[in-house]
Amino acid sequence: MGQKVQGTEDLYGGYMRAWQRMQDTARELFGAYGFDAIETPAIEQVDTFVHGIGESTDVVRKEMFRVVSGALFGDLLEKGTEAGLKPRQRMAMRPEGTAGVVRAAVENNFVPQGAAPAKLWYAEAMFRGERPQKGRLRQFHQVGVEWLGAPDAAADAECIIMLMEYFKRLGFDPSKLRLYINSMGDGACRPAYRDKVKAFILDHKDEMCEDCLERAEINPLRAFDCKNPRCHEVMADAPLVNDHLCGDCAEHYAQVKKYLDEAGIAYTEDPTLVRGLDYYTRTVFEVECEGSGVGAIGGGGRYDGLMELEGGKPTPGIGFAVGFERIALALASQGVDLEGADPSCVYVAGIGAETRGAVFSATLALRGAGVRTEADYQGRSLKAQFKQADKLRATLCVVLGPDEVAAGQATIRDMATHEQVQVPMASLADEVKARLA
Ligand code: AMP
Repeated sequence: MGQKVQGTEDLYGGYMRAWQRMQDTARELFGAYGFDAIETPAIEQVDTFVHGIGESTDVVRKEMFRVVSGALFGDLLEKGTEAGLKPRQRMAMRPEGTAGVVRAAVENNFVPQGAAPAKLWYAEAMFRGERPQKGRLRQFHQVGVEWLGAPDAAADAECIIMLMEYFKRLGFDPSKLRLYINSMGDGACRPAYRDKVKAFILDHKDEMCEDCLERAEINPLRAFDCKNPRCHEVMADAPLVNDHLCGDCAEHYAQVKKYLDEAGIAYTEDPTLVRGLDYYTRTVFEVECEGSGVGAIGGGGRYDGLMELEGGKPTPGIGFAVGFERIALALASQGVDLEGADPSCVYVAGIGAETRGAVFSATLALRGAGVRTEADYQGRSLKAQFKQADKLRATLCVVLGPDEVAAGQATIRDMATHEQVQVPMASLADEVKARLA
């Protein structure tokens, strides 16, 4: 028997409905904010992620699933390295959504000179070669948005406001949500700050782990995220980005907070919040749900340099992504049911083989009227059909006996009260819909 790959899941039944509910809620809410849906390919050239996410990130260094076509696989085995492949032949499964959307925006010129911003949302599977555990999968699902061409601090605030509203609509108790925000500075102020953090780590190199010493060289800000308790203690005294923002970044950050205050959004400033991907500039944010034990349920930030890294014109951008699986776990921990009830239906039962044609017509008519309709396809007895109807959570049964069919009539049976009425076959759909309403 085949088995699914470790860290992947089959989505079906109530779990699938929960995922669809997340997408429906996103379509409705993000649509109201002017976002259109986009779907980018699940595989991209490796360079799209290397340029976009950053060579020094864990995602690019350790977690990307590489894709090689069967025809090239032999070559790869023989040469033992990807280096023999042309850059275009080096592909990877997308580990996150932003780099692909930004690549698409550059390639299709979504934001030509002078145009209004492009506002896009997606709901897609992501792939990361992480060690699977609760809330950490190798194939997981994210809903995210990307807003390209809007430098204004109002865009940062609106993104965050929309995200918090999204969580509310999914059923989270807003008082349990913790929103953390920070500004990571930009090209003008971050390099000097980065150097200060690097110098700080090197000054404390005897107290810090190997990983952090490596981070000092390639991505020092990531040391704030180290899971090692000793590193955490040491980093508590490291220089904080807030004290090193340039005037423009400080002003932008102050504006974002002003807008959030005006909208009544509660937040905690966390000057050590540095998001894992290299592309963030200025505003970054993360949301946790108290007591859920699954870490961040969503996060995002501004990435004003990313369009250029993907080969486009300088274009500001901001976005966020939320993880479906973690949201499902967090909501379950709050006792909120995202799955909803199994759907009900109307069941059409026939008595005897000679009514099969009438069952077929009635079923077609009901489905044509938009009613979720089921029937028997296994030649079952009436009793067995009623049993099946109960299993399928039918609220009504349409019963067709030979005499009724001959008289152009049908019986509608209420499955809860067992009340029955005869109606003309010609008005069956209307009669059923009236009873369902
Ligand atoms: P990131 O792109 O790492 O900022 O992640 C954004 C969101 O995606 C997180 O807040 C999680 O909800 C979710 N997420 C990230 N990695 C995983 C994973 N391996 N498994 C499940 N969910 C994940």
